[in-house]
Amino acid sequence: MTAGSRWGIIIVLNSGNHRYIRRFPTRIRQTAEQNGYTSHINILSMTRYNTPVSSLPGIGTRRQAALARLGIFTAGGLLMHFPSAYQNRGNVKTIAEAKDGEVVSLELTVASTPNVVRLPGASRRTMLKFSAVDETGRVSVVYFNQDYLKDSFQKGTEGRFFGRLTLHNGVKTLGAPDFEPLHGRQPLRPLTPVYPLTAGITRKLITSLIADLLELGIDMPTALPESVRQAAGLCTFDEALRWIHFPDTYEALAAAREYFICEELFTFACSMKLARRRGDIALDAPKIIPPEGALERFYASLPFAPTGAQRRSIAEIAADMTGSSGQPMSRILTGDVGSGKTLCAAAAAYLAVCGGFQAAVMAPTEILARQHYEELSQLLSPFGISCALLCGATKASERTSILDSLAMGTLHVLIGTHALITPDVIFSRLGLAVTDEQHRFGVRQRAALTGSPGENEHPHVLVMSATPIPRTLALVLYGDMSHSVLDEMPPGRQKVDTFVVNESYRQRLEGFILKQVSEGHQVYIVCPAVENEPERDEEDGELYFADRRFELPDTVLKSAVEYAADLGERYPKLCVGLVHGRMKSSEKESVMSDFAANRIHVLVSTTVIEVGVNVPNATLMVIENAERFGLSQLHQLRGRVGRGGAKSWCILVSDTRSENAKKRLAVMKETNDGNVIAERDLELRGPGDFLPLGTGRARQHGDAGFRLASLGSDMSQLKAAFAHADELLSCDPSLEKEEHRGLREALKRFDKSGIAAMLN
Ligand code: ADP
Ligand code: MG
Repeated sequence: MTAGSRWGIIIVLNSGNHRYIRRFPTRIRQTAEQNGYTSHINILSMTRYNTPVSSLPGIGTRRQAALARLGIFTAGGLLMHFPSAYQNRGNVKTIAEAKDGEVVSLELTVASTPNVVRLPGASRRTMLKFSAVDETGRVSVVYFNQDYLKDSFQKGTEGRFFGRLTLHNGVKTLGAPDFEPLHGRQPLRPLTPVYPLTAGITRKLITSLIADLLELGIDMPTALPESVRQAAGLCTFDEALRWIHFPDTYEALAAAREYFICEELFTFACSMKLARRRGDIALDAPKIIPPEGALERFYASLPFAPTGAQRRSIAEIAADMTGSSGQPMSRILTGDVGSGKTLCAAAAAYLAVCGGFQAAVMAPTEILARQHYEELSQLLSPFGISCALLCGATKASERTSILDSLAMGTLHVLIGTHALITPDVIFSRLGLAVTDEQHRFGVRQRAALTGSPGENEHPHVLVMSATPIPRTLALVLYGDMSHSVLDEMPPGRQKVDTFVVNESYRQRLEGFILKQVSEGHQVYIVCPAVENEPERDEEDGELYFADRRFELPDTVLKSAVEYAADLGERYPKLCVGLVHGRMKSSEKESVMSDFAANRIHVLVSTTVIEVGVNVPNATLMVIENAERFGLSQLHQLRGRVGRGGAKSWCILVSDTRSENAKKRLAVMKETNDGNVIAERDLELRGPGDFLPLGTGRARQHGDAGFRLASLGSDMSQLKAAFAHADELLSCDPSLEKEEHRGLREALKRFDKSGIAAMLN
């Protein structure tokens, strides 16, 4: 990389926990020295990690906007934009071995002087052409509209060519291959980074931006204190940063990944510990004493008998709230989809209101909030308990009247989304905060609920999650929260029959979808991607994923937008709906309500429907590229069907050849028990699936989730991270020491990303 030609010269400072990569652009230094300018090598520029990308060379407003779509705003963000895979160019073949249509790496010598021809037609296209050889044969190499490359390919030039080889009139031809010159006999790197891209950002551009930054030097704070790094036996931060982008060997890549995984897990652990501590400080919750026999009256009002698990969990909740368990409630309630968590929330709200307090129930989406509102109103209205729903979409006049009655205390239970935590939402006496799906709500949001029950008091807190979390993992994640488990299903639930099929069943599958619809039922189809990627590198060749446990994508990703369009076109009578995360929430809402009202027969979506949606008339769940989902996620998706009286099915479509993926899918076929699935998932995949925003290989645009940890981490790494965090925080509880400055900064960024808040 010839960074020196475009960039200033660096000088290296080293202070505190900031590392400054010391490296001079060699060409510049040599040139300067040759010309006797040694003394002029001076501080010309020093890129800071928080330098906005717009001040990097070559980044105008267009590219700035495109980078923003990738979640990149600063130089540091660029360096933390890790490759999603690595092209294996080390697997060099000979011309004789290369097959027609194959993407190959060839080591060749240029055998003829490049020749530029103007192509016929008005397009003014030009073609640069030369031949190159190895000991087994000859290929023709062509580039279009790149005349300037002429000088790079002198006769006799040796290098590695990487591109697609095709046969043209019997001549083996390489079209626009990537070229790396062989300098002497120094071996070329076997691995070339493949970055997540977006329209307007090519791989070349991002690779050179990153290479330039690394070459130039940048001060990046690292969260891992030196003591922890050494204790964990990791490579240095500088090495890790260089190797994650441009690994010289597989071993270097593995070391770099281990570094960043540990850094992320460690930051995560510290952030959880600190958040917990903030929540604990001297705050108490009120004792809530409902009248004698209240709970039995509640049970008696139900249209069904509560399960044993529900009774047990509600008793645990009641003991916390009345103060008989000796501590304010900070409890997580986990239970499989359909295990009846809402009833527990209703019971808790009922007890709070009977005892003279108000309750707040928060859900991550409007759809879910509305469902909770309907269910809770039904369960609580017989007791004269008033409920209201507050969402972003609530009309201003209605909102005002809700807020008034809330402040007066005449409104007992407020259910809603993020809208609950705006500052003008003031409770008169809030005794209980319930949040559904804990990944998306956390301690900060709860702290933001205003209207404390008394001085130095905060509401009792109940967190519900449908993701069954294996006990071992729960211990680490929720070590100091109490845990209630609904491990028993309400009676009469029927098993959702599950099948794993491949592409050859496509036609039969579509027939089955039509049959369900013709019988008046509805169908969900879930795809792993929203849209076809805007600018996929065509020349992917053989990819290498650093996390060996995560399989190579051996199948083409189905995307919701194209899928829905195609299905609607081929079956005009079918009402096909589409919902995905990039839609506005009002749009999603309206599609979901059309589906709930059976105005849509087949709903094609991404995993946005994963959490809690209830449409009992849906009887078929089809999951495309099922190998791309975690087991717990598949289980949650499957839980969307089988909610009514009718027989229901789940069809997992996968063409994967990976044995491990097949094994995971087989688990889905074998069992419907979320707890068993969670345990198996932990065994087969590691805890990534349970951690917040564990989104898979490519970082999701805009999310600042884990970059690597969710993929590669295993229990022992997670446990070690918590142990290191414990130790560090006991020596330096408020992270005041200078050597923990990097960690402080990382925690600030981490907090902003919301991960910390999400789990606690
Ligand atoms: P989840 O745990 O997934 O949130 P819900 O609370 O939505 O489950 O409950 C699913 C369905 O089961 C609801 O329709 C609810 O009314 C019903 N249900 C809950 N508890 C029982 C029970 N003990 N017996 C029968 N049905 C129940
Ligand atoms: Mg629920």
